[in-house]
Amino acid sequence: MALEKEEMNPFDRVTAALKGEPTDRVPIGWLGRREVGFGLPQVTVADVVREKSGYKLYKGIKAMVERFHPDMIAVMTYTTVEAVAMGTKDKYFADQLPAPIDYAIKSPEDLEKTKIPDPRVDGDLPCLYNALKKVSNDFSGQVPIGAGTVGPFSVGARIRGLWDISFDIMRRPWFAHDVVKHATEACINIIEGFREAGATGTSSGAGSETVLGIEHFRQFCVPYERMYHRKAKKLGYLSMSRHICSGPSADLVIDEFPKFGFDNLPILVWGYYKDAQTMQQKKKLFTEYTPVVAVGGTLRASDELFYGTPAQVEAESVKLLDVCSPGGRYFHMADCCIPPTTPLENLDAFVISAKKYRPKA
Ligand SMILES: [Zn+2]
Repeated sequence: MALEKEEMNPFDRVTAALKGEPTDRVPIGWLGRREVGFGLPQVTVADVVREKSGYKLYKGIKAMVERFHPDMIAVMTYTTVEAVAMGTKDKYFADQLPAPIDYAIKSPEDLEKTKIPDPRVDGDLPCLYNALKKVSNDFSGQVPIGAGTVGPFSVGARIRGLWDISFDIMRRPWFAHDVVKHATEACINIIEGFREAGATGTSSGAGSETVLGIEHFRQFCVPYERMYHRKAKKLGYLSMSRHICSGPSADLVIDEFPKFGFDNLPILVWGYYKDAQTMQQKKKLFTEYTPVVAVGGTLRASDELFYGTPAQVEAESVKLLDVCSPGGRYFHMADCCIPPTTPLENLDAFVISAKKYRPKA
């Protein structure tokens, strides 16, 4: 299928969409985490995410950009990378993302010994730092480049463990606050390094927080996230991409997101919205606060994108676009990490269906 010649380049398209201005077509978000599986089966996911030079990650990103021409790049590997740099232990796999098996903080004393990581040297962060430098070298000014963390609360939950931080929140909230405060400092230190390495956009958000009730979300997420966003702005970041992951309270706590400071940076809120109608409602809610917010996400990465046929992926994409894209401020993205072994033909269908999509008159 031949596509029309495009009027805007990715950088201008994303900038316009984040301001709520018209774009020539729906912008396509990053197809995140498929890049770490690009070299399979010769190169394992474990090889990619642990390589200090970031060369294999850079090669995966470049291959993704060349095949799909998305409108943004996010340099990321796995969602416990910050915690691993602080002492959490992960298990690594050949064809999927690492997962935690032992957490850094087992008692209040451990918190004192847990250092604030330096992205140039600690854990698997150098992979990101160095890949970011290479990616900026190639794509800076053409495609917006983002790099960030999973955000203060999720890093807290990944150094302490989700069960244990839930216990702390209920039984000794002072300690839960100490953990999240420490995690906030870690997140800030990491994005300070990423900014230096060339990122112009940053990010936050992951699972863990969507198991909290609204009151706990207000107490243990909002103030720290707000601090993180304000620091990101001070560091010179131009935008924030804020993920909402699936979880029992996802569609409830998302209403608290404007308290992070939608007045602060242009924000793309993407991820899990339950269904297209919910996303359309939230889009309306967010844009009441500020003109500089866009929403994206919802096609389910772990089942629809992974197991579907290209024809099913295209049909689902169009259904979502029909409901969510009118009025702009919408990015075509999956709801979460795209598994490293997702069929590339499915991603072709996912991307092309949105690139050729034009709203119904
Ligand atoms: Zn997620």
